[in-house]
Amino acid sequence: MTYSKEVFRKNEEWAKKTANLREDFFKELSHGQKPDLLWIGCSDSRVSSSTIAGSELGQIFTLRNIANCIAPDDINSMSVIQYAVHALGVKEIAVVGHTNCGGIKASKDIHDLSGPIKHWLEPVHQLYLENLDEINVIEGENNKLNHLCELNVKRVADIVSKLEWVVAAKNSGNPVHIHGWIFNLEDGTLKDLKL
Ligand SMILES: [Zn+2]
Repeated sequence: MTYSKEVFRKNEEWAKKTANLREDFFKELSHGQKPDLLWIGCSDSRVSSSTIAGSELGQIFTLRNIANCIAPDDINSMSVIQYAVHALGVKEIAVVGHTNCGGIKASKDIHDLSGPIKHWLEPVHQLYLENLDEINVIEGENNKLNHLCELNVKRVADIVSKLEWVVAAKNSGNPVHIHGWIFNLEDGTLKDLKL
């Protein structure tokens, strides 16, 4: 059986089970969303926001891409943040990196890449070059990459904090709290970088 067939089989099971357990769940869900948090995470298949956070449908608005980046010239990331803050009124934004991130690893050796992914990871590569001295004193290749991952979370969180919708929310007395988190694939825990 192909995996897509399994998806439909499992979806049917889940929809029936959920409707049986909670009669009004789908009715309430169809009325609209009021998520509390915008999650900016990596596309990696191992880092699903709802699984990690144990959240329900409707609780987390999500933007995921390679190496949890945003770019001011990327209308996808900009429109997600604009909508989350301006229209949905999310109160928190979490930029979530993860250990053993393939995107972070690839950004280090960016000259091996080509096409859109090379362009997308260029700012992370620049970050790597800017912090080379700090990274080089760390022992072990994985630790070096995980440190670059933390630096990238801080970089993205800093960009988010300066976006016009985030600044406007702050000026109107409804600040959006920006978090930087790392998901540890080795034990399943989240670490707060306490930005
Ligand atoms: Zn990743």
